[in-house]
Amino acid sequence: MIAVPGFAGRRVVVLGLARSGLAATKALAAGGAEVLGWDDSAKTRDVVAGEVALRDPTQIEWRDVAALMLSPGIPHSFPQPHPAVAAARAAGVEIVGDIELLARAQPAARYIGITGTNGKSTTTALIGHVLASAGRTVEVGGNLGPPALGLAPLGDGGSYVVELSSFQLELVTTLSFDIAVLLNITPDHLDRHGDMAGYIAAKKRIFARQGGGATAVVGIDDAICRDIAAALRRHGAARVVPVSVAHRVAAGVYIEGGRLIDALDGAPEAVMELADAPRLPGLHNAQNAAAAYAVVRRAGLSRGQALAGIRTFPGLAHRQELVDTIDGIRYINDSKATNADATEKALACYEAIYWIAGGLAKTGGITSLAPYFTRLRHTFLIGNAAGEFAATLDGKVPYTRCGDLAAALEAAAAAARAEQVNGAVVLLSPACASYDQFPNFEVRGDAFRRLVGGLRGAHRAGPATR
Ligand code: ADP
Repeated sequence: MIAVPGFAGRRVVVLGLARSGLAATKALAAGGAEVLGWDDSAKTRDVVAGEVALRDPTQIEWRDVAALMLSPGIPHSFPQPHPAVAAARAAGVEIVGDIELLARAQPAARYIGITGTNGKSTTTALIGHVLASAGRTVEVGGNLGPPALGLAPLGDGGSYVVELSSFQLELVTTLSFDIAVLLNITPDHLDRHGDMAGYIAAKKRIFARQGGGATAVVGIDDAICRDIAAALRRHGAARVVPVSVAHRVAAGVYIEGGRLIDALDGAPEAVMELADAPRLPGLHNAQNAAAAYAVVRRAGLSRGQALAGIRTFPGLAHRQELVDTIDGIRYINDSKATNADATEKALACYEAIYWIAGGLAKTGGITSLAPYFTRLRHTFLIGNAAGEFAATLDGKVPYTRCGDLAAALEAAAAAARAEQVNGAVVLLSPACASYDQFPNFEVRGDAFRRLVGGLRGAHRAGPATR
């Protein structure tokens, strides 16, 4: 277990007691700190009451506190700071996140950090997979997977591969990443950062403090990241490695004609067909693959090791996850697609789609997906958004209002079986939040997987009962 140093005999407050906060209380206690914890949810407090000394932050004397460890979900600036944050700040208390504490606990390890608006989890998991496949000692976590302070101690020779949201980046104060990745920036989470400038400033922090031996991998396909790369080249010490799926780049990695081109050290060379990485479909995943390739090469892997790892990546659950192929029909779980932008990425990958969509719609609904409507054989609508989505599809795409996921899958499978179209996919890519019918997108995706398992069971039983 990781023990956080520097706070022995001193009081540290942990705010937010879900997974990352809970791991932090243990790692801080292991380092000898006196830990007080709090969560605004009474339900969460009840769950952890036996494990954590709870103290209402309004009852805390902040002058006696050495540090406040914040879980990433807690606002520390916008729309307004949590009252405990404001009180801690007023008393001059240091405010940190768990990745900062990990770095203090494991100073000899190497750190690879990944951020961006989209693709963080995929790229983080991919880098971890490629390094591990090549025999490197790695721990993968942060925003994705186990919380930072729940990872194993690695010491010298090991690498932590950590996904960082912009919120987590704001709570990193001394760590400098050996390799830092910024994939892309589009407007997101502006409620938490105040405006686009605040969001960009948070993302840029992944390159803060990087020294001469460090590497900055930057996806340069959007104007904001292009500017950041240019500024890093002008003012930064780190070596900048550009990544693009749209243009050739010198001293970087890019995609051209469906192939990954390595131009890291001189003349560009096509090193891989993207089709050879079936669990990374679509151009968006090509960006993730190119960034991961750049990272692992700069981490010292050979070209062969890098490519072998990318080819064998098993993919992440709920992101265009191939659940099963039954009678030539692929069943794909893209439950993570909680908005139209994410769903667009999936629709772009297939030609004959039986689409399951709906839930709690985001502003704009699915109007932006109109260019893909010709790919839709039929749409099966669920949840609150069914009425709104039906209005968008009316006269353009055949649809059925199914109510819930089970009915939608049954209808979609029946339609796909009846039509026997080549390359047919039944795709759950809801373009909606899940909260009207499920606790979160993971539970929604798990339900889809289970239901497809039922189809498989019925398929197996079929011939015997006939
Ligand atoms: P994050 O962790 O940043 O949310 P994920 O890797 O979980 O990203 O991917 C979430 C969704 O974002 C995917 O299902 C896909 O729709 C989209 N996506 C993934 N990678 C990219 C990328 N490089 N650029 C744009 N969109 C992407």
